[in-house]
Amino acid sequence: MYLKSLELSGFKSFAKKSIFDFTSDISGIVGPNGSGKSNVAEAFSFALGEQSIKSLRGKRGEDLIFNGSKAIPRSNRASVKVVFDNSKKFLDIDFDEVVVERSVHRDGINQYFINSSQVRLRDIAELLASANIGSSGHHIISQGEADRILNANIKERKEMIEDALGLKVFQYKKQESARKLEKTEENIAQVESLRKEIAPHIKFLKKQVDKIEKSIAMRDELKELSLEYLKRESEYISYNENKIKKERHTPQEELNILENKLQKAKEILLKSEKSDEKSEELIEIEKGLTSIRSEKDAVMRDLGRIEGQIAYEERRIEKEKREQKELENRTVNFNELNEIAQKVYNQIDEAKEQDDLSEVKSTLERVGSIIKDFISTTFSREKDTRVDENELKNLKSKKSELDEKLSDISQNESSYNKKYSALKKEIEKDKDDSRDAEREVFAIMSRQSELRGVLGKIESTESAISHAKEDFERELQEVAILVGRAVLDYENHDLGVDTEEIANEERSIQEERRRKIEKIKIRLEEFGGGSGEETMKEYKEAAERDEFLGCEIADLEKSAESLKDLIKDLEEKLSTQFKSGIEKINREFQNFFSLMFGGGDASLSVIKEKKRKKLDTDLTVIEGELDMGEEEGEEGIDISVSLPHKRIKGLVMLSGGERALTSIALLFAMSQVNPPPFLVLDETDAALDEANSKRYGDMIETLSKYSQLILITHNRETMGRAGILYGVTMGADGISKLLSVKFEEALQIAK
Ligand code: ATP
Repeated sequence: MYLKSLELSGFKSFAKKSIFDFTSDISGIVGPNGSGKSNVAEAFSFALGEQSIKSLRGKRGEDLIFNGSKAIPRSNRASVKVVFDNSKKFLDIDFDEVVVERSVHRDGINQYFINSSQVRLRDIAELLASANIGSSGHHIISQGEADRILNANIKERKEMIEDALGLKVFQYKKQESARKLEKTEENIAQVESLRKEIAPHIKFLKKQVDKIEKSIAMRDELKELSLEYLKRESEYISYNENKIKKERHTPQEELNILENKLQKAKEILLKSEKSDEKSEELIEIEKGLTSIRSEKDAVMRDLGRIEGQIAYEERRIEKEKREQKELENRTVNFNELNEIAQKVYNQIDEAKEQDDLSEVKSTLERVGSIIKDFISTTFSREKDTRVDENELKNLKSKKSELDEKLSDISQNESSYNKKYSALKKEIEKDKDDSRDAEREVFAIMSRQSELRGVLGKIESTESAISHAKEDFERELQEVAILVGRAVLDYENHDLGVDTEEIANEERSIQEERRRKIEKIKIRLEEFGGGSGEETMKEYKEAAERDEFLGCEIADLEKSAESLKDLIKDLEEKLSTQFKSGIEKINREFQNFFSLMFGGGDASLSVIKEKKRKKLDTDLTVIEGELDMGEEEGEEGIDISVSLPHKRIKGLVMLSGGERALTSIALLFAMSQVNPPPFLVLDETDAALDEANSKRYGDMIETLSKYSQLILITHNRETMGRAGILYGVTMGADGISKLLSVKFEEALQIAK
């Protein structure tokens, strides 16, 4: 025996603790109507986990708690304990005695216990399922529910039969696996959606990372190119700076020398300006000379004239002397004398006429002159030669004066001439000097412009180099910002070529390098700044998370697969065991049925639920009844019966008694095939006539070999089969009381 006892406290009408000890295979519970017998059957259902309060004849959990009476106040808690003997370990738990307990409080809270340890409802259900005491209640037949299995729909029937066949445990496992599978699939969906959610971000990050990696590669390239470029450029610049310095030195030096020379030449030219004064002086001298010469000429002329006069005078004196001599020897003719005498007479005649003395005097003078003229004309040599000699003397003195003057003038002239020629020489020399200086100035200036041209070229090269240097500095700074300070060490970058080679390289090649660098710089700027460390880190984390989620999905899918396999296995097991179970039940059902009805046929068959399309799913019909607008539903159990000697087929046609007999036959068949540890039958025999009661009694005895029976009954026949009888009574206090009674007492009490 498995069922030891039932203990009720505060449950419905059992206000006080009441214990039923089930020491016999068949225990009968008897008592008058309304004394609380059915409450006992319900106490079993309640303790074993029934969730439908309605099926326990209540509306709320509170209705299951003793509600109080005039005599006794209401209880706060209802509790029922079912005690099992588990020495044979029919329950899968390592205790010899197992107490399954459930309590409900007024606030509706239920508590479940196994051996006083609080557990979940599921734990109870699983524990009992393994012992074929399922929650479908096929082993607790409440009052008026004997034909429940007949009234139930095909699906409910199937559940009851599965329960009775002990397949519930597989169902639980299947449900559990399905739940797990559902949960796993939910998790998969969740993880997948998580993965989907982060996917665009990862994609975005990946793009960023690609960009960053590209920009790192570009930075590396830029660094390499820059190192070469900078090294070359700096070598080029310093080489050219030195070269310029050297190149500039010689022309600059020469220019300096030329400047000095030019200065000197200019000084010379300045001096030559002063030579104008000399020219003026020369002109003055020339003027002096001219006047000296004209004076000299005059003196010479005077001298010549005087010399001529002297010669003339000398010749005249000579001639006079000679003529004197001749004159003195001259003879005057009469006419001449007469003429003169005439003139004188004329004058004398005039004078005689004159009174005025002064007039006479003048006439006398004129007479003297006439005579004088005559004499001088006739005897001019009458002139004194001494006078001529005096004149000659005069002339000679004048000549000597003139000679002296001439000599002075000549002296002066020669001094002037000397001055002149000296000055002229000087001027000539100055002119020569100035001409040379001019030539030199010209030469210097042309050389200077030549040199300035050279220096100009050098300067333009220098300016180009200086610009290159500025560019170089700027580029160095820019590149250092972009690729880091390492590039500042360009000096130590080994190119494997010497400076000469670098400097002489075609400039366009270096320009090409610079263009390449610029291009990379622009692209890098387009990529944006920053090392991207954060993004790389973020991407790494995101990718790791994605990978983790990927693994998670794989794991979940794996476990989903194994759950599906498990479910499939369970379904197969359920299906095969269910089929063989149905076969066994059918054999027993046929037996019990023909035993009850003295013949006839009864069987169960597995069918598929048919649903009307688009109609309420509750409207289920048996297969074949409708041939239109149906769809297949879940599997269920159909019952077909045919009574002996009657043409009645189908459950709906049965009378109440026939229904009761049929359901008892099925119930017993089920119990026979896979006996539950105990069966509670609440007035299942109520509708039976005497003959059937007898048959029922026989069947009960057979059944009690496999299952412990608790029979709530008013039936005398049934009571007679019970090994122990409990009487339940209710007094005026509204409390059910329990007492152990003998058969006769029981008959009494039951009335
Ligand atoms: P019958 O032979 O007519 O089927 P019975 O012996 O099976 O009757 P029950 O139906 O078990 O009687 O008991 C019903 C009795 O239990 C009623 O008197 C009802 O008042 C009482 N009862 C039900 N719930 C409670 C409750 N919560 N508190 C107190 N009494 C209750």
